[in-house]
Amino acid sequence: MLAITARALFTPLEKVEQPLVLVDGERIVRLSSLSSAEIPAGARHIDFKDGFLAPGLIDLHVHGGVGYDLMQDDEAGRAAFEKFLVRHGVTSYYPTTLTASLADTLRAVERLGQAIEQAEARPENSRACPLGIHLEGPFLSHLRRGVHPPERLLTPTLEIFKRFWQASRGKIKILTIAPELPGALQVIAEAVKLGVCVSLGHSDATLEQARAGIAAGGCHATHTFNAMRPLGHRDPGIVGEVLSNVLTTADIIADGVHVHPSVVRLFVRAKGVERTVLVTDATAATGMPDGRYMLGSLEVEVRDGKCLHDGRLAGSVLTLDQAVRNAMEFAGIDLQQSLRLATLNAARAVKASRGVLQEGFTADLAVLTPSGDIRATLARGALAE
Ligand SMILES: [Zn+2]
Repeated sequence: MLAITARALFTPLEKVEQPLVLVDGERIVRLSSLSSAEIPAGARHIDFKDGFLAPGLIDLHVHGGVGYDLMQDDEAGRAAFEKFLVRHGVTSYYPTTLTASLADTLRAVERLGQAIEQAEARPENSRACPLGIHLEGPFLSHLRRGVHPPERLLTPTLEIFKRFWQASRGKIKILTIAPELPGALQVIAEAVKLGVCVSLGHSDATLEQARAGIAAGGCHATHTFNAMRPLGHRDPGIVGEVLSNVLTTADIIADGVHVHPSVVRLFVRAKGVERTVLVTDATAATGMPDGRYMLGSLEVEVRDGKCLHDGRLAGSVLTLDQAVRNAMEFAGIDLQQSLRLATLNAARAVKASRGVLQEGFTADLAVLTPSGDIRATLARGALAE
């Protein structure tokens, strides 16, 4: 039994002063304030003193880090990457594909599906846990592809989607798709039936096309503003729908590069702290010095916090804890609210039973300073070294 105390805890909806968290194995078995419970005799006690406890962070959109790209077949690279995530407070993530040939994508989702099954059967301490695959492409708009290779984009069909689904062993949990493409609405409906979170993105959809995507089951939006038909006051397009729809969640890359800080503020005001999700879209270059790195099959150059391919933004070098701190500054929200965007809101968007500190839940915890720096992380009840 492990007994954890600290200055305060964010569930994240509630704040508990002087909390006591009891962890048995991988689970939280009791959560209360220290004044209403005692530390059981024989429990190992860790006191984080003036630290704040929060759920471990969850990244719904990440391509890699510390030199490793998730499209690569490299077990050691993935292990190092998952340890890097934990050092930034991230305990769960959704490995995100980059558009590639059909054969390469099938191989990648098969490998990632196996990695997820393995992590479910034998979770490793000190490593972030992959919970599901985020399939970003190939069903994206040519007009809003970003750096996804144009020759690899495909028109959505049920047949191709089912091949991905089978190769992944049912581990695809997020699908980014442009709803205006022919065949997209059928694929959206099928994916939703299979429990996939369908996220609208890389899209040139008009307002009506975006609404049709949501009516078919789309419930989220991928890196809002980036790779989307821009908002026009007489042509609101997909962004107009994403910002004004009160039922859908949406994510944003709060690195100050992809979206101007004042637009991050506008976004949080529009979606509210209930429906905003922070993601990184981080590449292999994250946590590395400036230089050249791979993103899928593309070479990207990193300089001064920007990750570019052919002069276009190609993912980020953002970590999720930094996104939490940035959102506080950009959107003028407090630490508790900002943490919610990277924990509970992310988990709710994909219907994962994570992102909340509650009895019976997995003991994934981030320990933070008042300014949001990570001091320690517990992954599945074990303190990551
Ligand atoms: Zn993207």
